[in-house]
Amino acid sequence: HATKKTMADHLRKFDSIFTLTPQRMRMIVEAFKDTLELGLSKPKQTVPMIPTYVFGWPTGQETGDFLAVDLGGTNLRVCLVTLQGEGKFEITQTKYRLTEEQKQEEGQKLFDFCAECLKTFVDTNLADEASGLRLKEGEKLPLGFTFSYPCSQDRIDHGELIRWTKGFGAVNTEGHDVAAMFRASLAKFDLPIELTALINDTTGTLIASHYVDPKTKIAVIFGTGCNAAYMERVGSIPKIKNLGIDDEAEMAINCEWGAFDSFEHEHLPRTKYDSIVDETSNKPGEQAFEKLISGRYLGEILRLVICELVDEGVLFLGQNTYKLEAPYVFDTAFLSLMESDPTDELLMIIGIFTHFFALETTLAERQFFKALAKLIGRRAARLSACGIAAIVGKMGYLEEGCAVGADGSLYNKYPGFAERVHEGLVDVFGEKGRNIITHHAEDGSGVGSAIIAAMTKIRK
Ligand code: ADP
Repeated sequence: HATKKTMADHLRKFDSIFTLTPQRMRMIVEAFKDTLELGLSKPKQTVPMIPTYVFGWPTGQETGDFLAVDLGGTNLRVCLVTLQGEGKFEITQTKYRLTEEQKQEEGQKLFDFCAECLKTFVDTNLADEASGLRLKEGEKLPLGFTFSYPCSQDRIDHGELIRWTKGFGAVNTEGHDVAAMFRASLAKFDLPIELTALINDTTGTLIASHYVDPKTKIAVIFGTGCNAAYMERVGSIPKIKNLGIDDEAEMAINCEWGAFDSFEHEHLPRTKYDSIVDETSNKPGEQAFEKLISGRYLGEILRLVICELVDEGVLFLGQNTYKLEAPYVFDTAFLSLMESDPTDELLMIIGIFTHFFALETTLAERQFFKALAKLIGRRAARLSACGIAAIVGKMGYLEEGCAVGADGSLYNKYPGFAERVHEGLVDVFGEKGRNIITHHAEDGSGVGSAIIAAMTKIRK
């Protein structure tokens, strides 16, 4: 009779399906570059390469007080940013948790909630004498709204939601001007605030990173979702030629690259677990690149592998696994924790499985889980490197090198994520790949939003 496979045998199989060779990566980069060019040349492409109407880099001398509201995938953040010039700033912020219901309810109610949080924040922080921030009669505080979903814009203070991503589905919002919707909510609370700029978090991160480090040319987000922005020559954006903007002007482009390879599924290596994640998501077919990379999905991919091995009778024989069977119960933060478990016995992994899932594990199983987390995390980082390499290659930044501002929990908290991205860049470009350095972009979306609001004020 057949000998029983060991956990190491199983691991070999997963190693082969989750590992990306340098050659495969270079193929992905080539396809990615074509996709970026296509998005710049024609409207309504899968990767939409959205013109942001943020013109050029900040000087670093922007100053003043600005509010920023950041509607991310997981949290709502309200910030008061004081730009001090010379690349310096101060920030005060409060985070509010969004519920799954709020993500799906009436869109206007979601914006009402944002305005309500803003009111609470303003009442707390602006009433504070010590803040030194008192508004004159009739004066309004400029607000940058960081709204990190693809919007089509034809000016900076307006934007129509193309489609929700990252699990959002609030009704009566797609196709609507979200800046107008938020203004309507602000009016209900009678706040001394003027929404001056609608910004994507990647664009905010790009501008904030450049404010602090002028070598920054690209920004990337690895959080609930995955996206990038960079600065493009207007002359290289054929789809906006008719606007008559000077070819030599520069404009930030929000790539919305999470959509790369959606629908056709031609270029990215997808496992059957990726297909299940896609098919059971609220938007099947969409955000194909993001679904292999971002925080919302990595834990789920690992959970699906484990569940398959449970069904095959390989794991947790005789134990009740119902707690592990619900979609999305395995947070990507668990992958971080498992990978960083330094103990021989893998005590952290024992803790995760007993505490959250009421399951006993053997050492061999725990070693397997740790190795599996590493495969899934590493694939995500290497795919991210492909996206960065596509922009670097297209823009010709390799020789001179550049900095890439990065933000999001996956980048900031997943052990070794940045190192793996850098390794991936060397696999794509050879030694010159070392010229491209990612670094954590402090408070990207809040500070960037404030700087853009300031740049907008200067332009007016
Ligand atoms: P957002 O994208 O909403 O602005 P974050 O950047 O914090 O917010 O990203 C949230 C995502 O990051 C969630 O999907 C969560 O699973 C994941 N995450 C949170 N903590 C960690 C961690 N320690 N390691 C890896 N991923 C994490």
